[in-house]
Amino acid sequence: MIVTIPILTEHAGDVRALRTFEIRDVCPICGQQRGEPFGTYHFDGSRRLHCDGWTNPCGHIDKYSVVCKEGIPLTICKEGKTIPVFVEPRPIESF
Ligand SMILES: [Zn+2]
Repeated sequence: MIVTIPILTEHAGDVRALRTFEIRDVCPICGQQRGEPFGTYHFDGSRRLHCDGWTNPCGHIDKYSVVCKEGIPLTICKEGKTIPVFVEPRPIESF
């Protein structure tokens, strides 16, 4: 599935902190289906940033910092298609 999430703990609400990733449809811990992504906000302590969130039915919580490492970074081109980009995201240690 494709999700857009912040890659910085302190993003200050800046959309440049967002990256789009293709990630597995299943939970990396137990292999059950992940929940459907929905629009939500990540709060960094001062500012909110609109991004994707999902709730896994299995109860395991996907940390954005872990998903950043798992996912294949994508970029969205003008036609609305997503293509892989080969830049290393800067994952943060914890959210
Ligand atoms: Zn799970």
